[in-house]
Amino acid sequence: MGERARESCDVLIVGGGPAGSTCARQLRAAGLDVLVMDRQQFPRDKVCAGWITPAVVETLGLDIEDYRRLHVLQPITGFLTGVEGGRPLFTAYREPISYGIRRREFDHYLLERAGARLTLGESFDSMRRAGRHWIINDRIKTPLVIGAGGHFCPVARQLGARPGRGERAVTAQEIEFEMDAEQLANCPVKPDTPELYFCADMKGYGWIFRKGAYLNIGLGREGAHQLSRQVAAFRDRLIAEGRISARTPMDFHGHAYLLYTSGRRRLIDDGVMLIGDAAGLAYPQSGEGIRPAVESGLMAAAAVVAAKGHYDSATLAPYGVALTQRFGQRDESLRTAEEGVVLAGRWRRTLGAWLLRSRWFSQHVVLDRWFLHTQQKALTVEAI
Ligand SMILES: Cc1cc2nc3c(=O)[nH]c(=O)nc-3n(C[C@H](O)[C@H](O)[C@H](O)COP(=O)(O)OP(=O)(O)OC[C@H]3O[C@@H](n4cnc5c(N)ncnc54)[C@H](O)[C@@H]3O)c2cc1C
Repeated sequence: MGERARESCDVLIVGGGPAGSTCARQLRAAGLDVLVMDRQQFPRDKVCAGWITPAVVETLGLDIEDYRRLHVLQPITGFLTGVEGGRPLFTAYREPISYGIRRREFDHYLLERAGARLTLGESFDSMRRAGRHWIINDRIKTPLVIGAGGHFCPVARQLGARPGRGERAVTAQEIEFEMDAEQLANCPVKPDTPELYFCADMKGYGWIFRKGAYLNIGLGREGAHQLSRQVAAFRDRLIAEGRISARTPMDFHGHAYLLYTSGRRRLIDDGVMLIGDAAGLAYPQSGEGIRPAVESGLMAAAAVVAAKGHYDSATLAPYGVALTQRFGQRDESLRTAEEGVVLAGRWRRTLGAWLLRSRWFSQHVVLDRWFLHTQQKALTVEAI
């Protein structure tokens, strides 16, 4: 049946987010014919706060000056951190330690830059074996499929993932909107100072993040239990405290993703690999997922190039090894028997509000280690 395929490529990447576009660009640089399929047309919205750390900028080789000419790029030089309802602490840095981007713009920029062939507005529907190849959607023939379709990636499902069933994901709701002149004039949120408010049970946090004229508000937590209620309460409190206007839109959008410690998905099979959120790689303490998405895209590309066209799972195995070397062993011990719950890290159970009142702890542990990962150098192609 493979002969019915109307198109072929060396590698098909399903999903044109940061994982897919980074992997595509690297494979193109190695001379492979890459086709990226995404069910959406770009630019497209993506539920995300849009915070990237300098390591992402470095790994992607982003020319900040060039990028900011046409896109929102908000340097971050400080944070307000605290427990919801409490008095937040201000931490200042001497230079930008992160950036705010709009995913709509950022993902489009990366995808265009990747130089791959694109099939946008096409959803991945099926894959079947034809000898050593796959036939995708009954029309595309390829020896290798890379699943980069995010948490609900259909390629991950082919490898046995069951999103929403037996997986303990972080669920989050977010809204990003352009403020009108009146909202802008009265907005007390400083653009260079995102605000992070941890939930009282330490199982998540809410944020307000201003990027130029755009305001991004959201809350993410382990598990989906009463998320909408918590988001509504967070929004109401921000209004009551005068942090946001009572006219702030209500239509928050939700999404889910796996933290590295709670991900258990099979990542490699013959002719198949998963990267980014499809592989469940986000940092456990902060939920930062763009950096692991980009890094996994590069690591997967390196394994593909080294495999020289032999894409059986044994030949692709170095990708799994590289992930473990980079992010550590996934911690089985955090699974609680009762609910099958995997907590994002022991710190959340023991960390009390009093720790977040400590200026030293807020800066050196919460911000520098957990959110900025200053202890982990940027991944470079040469280092893989
Ligand atoms: C509310 C929220 C806030 C977040 N904030 C941050 C943050 O500030 N910083 C950070 O680093 N991380 C953040 N994250 C995590 C981050 O958004 C993800 O980790 C990151 O987007 C993963 O990138 P990806 O390329 O793997 O997947 P995605 O960016 O999700 O891209 C997947 C692509 O696959 C496509 N796709 C899906 N299904 C199909 C299909 N059937 N056929 C074809 N295409 C398909 C989608 O259209 C999409 O374009 C946040 C997440 C949430 C939910």
